[in-house]
Amino acid sequence: MEDIEREPEEPPAKGRPPHPWEHVPAAQWNDWRWQLANRLKSIEQLAEVIHLTPSEEIALQSSKHFRVAIPPYFASLMDPNDPDCPIRRQVVPTADELVPFEAEMEDSLAEDAHSPMPGLVHRYPDRVLMLVTTQCASYCRYCTRSRLVGDAHVQFSQADYQRQIAYIASTPQVRDVLISGGDPLTMPVKALDQILAGLRSIPHVEVIRIGTRVPVFLPQRIDEELINCLRKYHPLWMNIHFNHPKEISPEVEAALTKLADAGIPLGSQSVLLAGINDCPNIMMELSHKLLRNRVRPYYLYQCDLVHGAGHFRTPVSKGIEIMEALRGHTSGFGIPTYVIDAPAGGGKIPILPNYLLSMSDSRVVVRNYEGFISTYSQPTNYRPHDTKNCPYCQNSASEGGQKGVAALLSGERLEITPEGWHETHHREAPEPVSLPHRQRAKVIR
Ligand code: SF4
Repeated sequence: MEDIEREPEEPPAKGRPPHPWEHVPAAQWNDWRWQLANRLKSIEQLAEVIHLTPSEEIALQSSKHFRVAIPPYFASLMDPNDPDCPIRRQVVPTADELVPFEAEMEDSLAEDAHSPMPGLVHRYPDRVLMLVTTQCASYCRYCTRSRLVGDAHVQFSQADYQRQIAYIASTPQVRDVLISGGDPLTMPVKALDQILAGLRSIPHVEVIRIGTRVPVFLPQRIDEELINCLRKYHPLWMNIHFNHPKEISPEVEAALTKLADAGIPLGSQSVLLAGINDCPNIMMELSHKLLRNRVRPYYLYQCDLVHGAGHFRTPVSKGIEIMEALRGHTSGFGIPTYVIDAPAGGGKIPILPNYLLSMSDSRVVVRNYEGFISTYSQPTNYRPHDTKNCPYCQNSASEGGQKGVAALLSGERLEITPEGWHETHHREAPEPVSLPHRQRAKVIR
């Protein structure tokens, strides 16, 4: 028999760890339960997939680090040889995470202070946030809720859900409920279905929203069973947490198609993160990829003052620079609103470049994204809106103290004063003090 000359085997790429999932059958790889059960949690598991840096090793060996659990699918997007890979940086801790910073807070958005009961945050008058689970498919290193997310032993119970739904049912001004966590799409479909059915049975709940990162971390989870559950509860909206264009793989695109085809309006929320997406061109590419997949960029958040996230923070000027590079340079509906979620419960405050340069009675002076300066002539015959005869104005309801500057503009209030302002400015003349003759003469002079 003739000897067959074999091609010499290609040596593995230099130093590259063997791919541990090479022999996993496709049926398992595409099963979200397998993905969850096989998440990478330990330093040993991660070392099989990426070349760990000393900084990553320090963090993974520390008992203080926030939970680590990375589905094999998401880990397969990481560059094993690049410690700065934007996928890797979001889920693999580094030693920087262990370094406290001066302004950090445990509950930077004061959610606990706005919770009438466990898991329910009622910050705004007409909408509430329902935290239904503490579990996520993976754990973002900058998570705002790291104080309660990720602990496998802490969970909300059926009784908590019932109490939350009862509160919403007895609070008629709540018309919009955001279900979040943790990640609601990690829950069993049956449990999620019960919560959605409970909310949908409340006549004054007009809109239900789900906040999730599952389509990014675990796109296999967007299966028929879940879709059939969600589509029963329209109008149901979904905000998905995307930070980088590299997250939008063919698997994620397939998941987004299923969600959009089910009639679910999709939005994206991003966090501005140093070393990950603090670049106008990355954000532009993310925006375009999202729009191609029927996802509208919704918010770009300034990174919160959360413990462990100090090294991800950027100056606010970086956010302004990104907004300046997006506005006018791409479709308006591809531009998120850049916000600071104000510490101590101030809520989302939009921050944007200044386009209004000046104003007189007759004109406003504005500039566009190119620096072109123009004037807009104000109308001279504008008839102000008749609030007294407008049924919408007459029926509008609001909670005291929440109208802010809008109340000044509508004439409801004359001023807004910081606490203690009146006392400070109510100055009384002190009792006259009798001074010695020479000193009095000096004072008079
Ligand atoms: S998915 Fe959301 S809740 Fe979960 S760790 Fe990331 S930011 Fe936190």
